[in-house]
Parts: sequence; structure tokens; C-alpha cells
Amino acid sequence: MPTLLPRPSILSIEPYVGGESKIPGVNRIIKLSSNEGAFGVPPTAQAAYAKLATELHRYPDGGSTALREAIARRYGLNSEKIVCGNGSDELIGHIIMAYGGEGTELVMSAHGFVMYDIAGRYAGCRIIKVPERNLTADVDALLAAVGPRTRLLFLANPNNPTGSILPQSEIERLRAGLREDVLLVLDSAYAEYVTRPDYDPGTALVEAGTNTIMTRTFSKVFGLGGVRLGWTYAPPHITDVLNRVRGPFNVNAPAMAAGIAALAEPGWVEKSVAHNSEWRAKLSDGLRAAGITVHPSEGNFILADFGTAERAKGADAALKARGLIVRAMGSYSLPQCLRITIGTAEECSMVLDALTGFMRDNG
Ligand code: PMP
Repeated sequence: MPTLLPRPSILSIEPYVGGESKIPGVNRIIKLSSNEGAFGVPPTAQAAYAKLATELHRYPDGGSTALREAIARRYGLNSEKIVCGNGSDELIGHIIMAYGGEGTELVMSAHGFVMYDIAGRYAGCRIIKVPERNLTADVDALLAAVGPRTRLLFLANPNNPTGSILPQSEIERLRAGLREDVLLVLDSAYAEYVTRPDYDPGTALVEAGTNTIMTRTFSKVFGLGGVRLGWTYAPPHITDVLNRVRGPFNVNAPAMAAGIAALAEPGWVEKSVAHNSEWRAKLSDGLRAAGITVHPSEGNFILADFGTAERAKGADAALKARGLIVRAMGSYSLPQCLRITIGTAEECSMVLDALTGFMRDNG
């Protein structure tokens, strides 16, 4: 045992595993494990990124001004309330370090996104994981879990990995039930894919009060997971805090240029969302017809439940044999499930084919 040790809570963190892109002995890999957009990088974003290659000696604009203004224009927001980051993961970490820490509690849903747990432990928060109903966050249980030491409540809506969503009325009830000194973090990474008419990604609640922050990302519908780009929308006092703690140049220049271009790519979001809705339904229905339980999803992925961990492992192996990488869910305490990103039509058909065959042979 070395004598030099980090704070104890850090050693309780399970290192994040993901992004694997190789299968030994398989040449053609199809990666459907990280909920990346089905259509790759928007062409104008790729060009904008490449153009910056001759200016890499320059520091980027530390305030991400042009990007914040482009986001504000697109979504009808106030650019002064936006903070950009190196992926929304970075910003989630800052939020927790700034408002959490030793002696505080962070409340999240049992199958909430894993980063809240990782960053919460890093900060020294006690993590309270709240039971769900049908793999969906339970507002009454979340509110009941809030205690005097709670400073943060995280909710991804839609949630990764379950794909579940809460109606707007439930989100409002959650916010209304929280003390003013508890920060509600609405993680809307998958906002663009939602088709429910009552959905609000969190903007309205941010505008209406002092203790809600919304987090967003360019990694999903905008196809820029590799450049690492995310943003928050929050009341001025929270924006001020994030601007104090973030790195001075936390968003790199090519990422900013790519983000601005992606926001303006004509028809990109519409095309991506239409494709996602179509193939999310086709894949879900097809897998159900094959005897697999598929949870309803509002994201660009589905959660397929094979009943037992052993069967999920077998299904994973059957997919891998065809070069298809999906996400095993053991780290989310759902070892009987696989999370599958909605890829192109061809990729979804391959998944359907592989799993239909697997269920025929092992059902
Ligand atoms: N929140 C949720 C719910 C996610 O699923 C992800 C990506 N897996 C993130 C945040 C992080 O996104 P980013 O790439 O912007 O760090």
C-alpha cells in the first residue's frame, strides 16, 4: 500500500469504461455503444474543424463567445446564461465540485447517468441512489430522499441508459418540491430526439427560478462526440460560479468552429430525428417480435432486456461475432440488459438480424 493516498471517496470510484472500438479478429466494426449520432459529422462542421488546422498556435476565445451566441440564436436563449465546456461531462464535474463536496449529498435516480456518481465521489459527496418505477425516475421517491445535507439533484430527461422520460408536469412537481438551496440539474443530452409535445429541455425552469441548471451536448444529434463540446444554461449566479471554476480555455478552437457550423447545418437535426424515430420504432418492434423486452425510449438508443445476465452475454457475443459493439449494462446494475444505439438503417437491420437469430437459437 503506498503511503501517498487520495481522499478515500476517490478509491470508491469505478473507472469509466466505454468507447471500445475493437473486437479481436473482426475487421469491420460497427460501434453502437456510445449513443453517437447515426449520420456521423455534419459536413460543414468537418470543414470548419479542418480550417482551423492552420491556426492551432493561437489560444481559443476563453469565453466561447461566438459559440454561445450561435447556441443562443438557435434556441432563443440569452447567451450570457450559457457556459460552454469540454463535453457536458466537464461541466457536470464543475457543478458538483462547486455545489457539492464533503458533508453534502447528491441525489440521483437508481439508473441515472454514471457521471453523476463518478464526479460526486470525486467531490466527496454522499451519493443517494433512489429506487425507480419501471426503470423511470420516481418524483415522490426523489423528493423523499432529499435531506438537510442534499445540495444536488441530478435528473437526465430522457435518461441514459433507460431511455425513460418524465412528463413536464412531473419535472415541475420535482422542482416545486425542492428547497431553494438544492440545485436541480436537468441533463438534456438527448433533448433533440424527444418527440413528446409537452417536452421542455429545462429552459423554462431555468428562466423561472434560481436553482435549476440545464446541461446539453453536441455529442449526440450534432455528431461531435469526438471534439468534446457541451454547454449549460443557468441563472446568472450559477453561470458566474461556473465561469470562476472552469479552465480559462476549456473549449478548443476547432471544437468551437465545428459546433457553430453544426448548429447551422441545414436540415441536420430534422433528418437525424426523423431517422431516429423511424428506426427506434422499427428496431424496438422487431426485437419485441423476437421475444426480447425493449423499454420505451425517447433517446437515440434502446435498452433491450434479455431476462438473465447469461442470455444478455450470449446476445452480446452474437452481436460481436458480426462486428456489432453495443453496451453491456453490468456497470448500471442491469446485467440482463444491453443498450443499443440507433445507427443507420443498415446497422439497425444487422442488429435485428443478429438478435432474431440469437433468440431463435437460444430463446
Ligand atoms: N449526460 C448524459 C445523460 C449522457 O448520456 C452523456 C453521454 N454519454 C453525457 C451527459 C455526456 O456527454 P458529453 O459527450 O457532452 O460529455
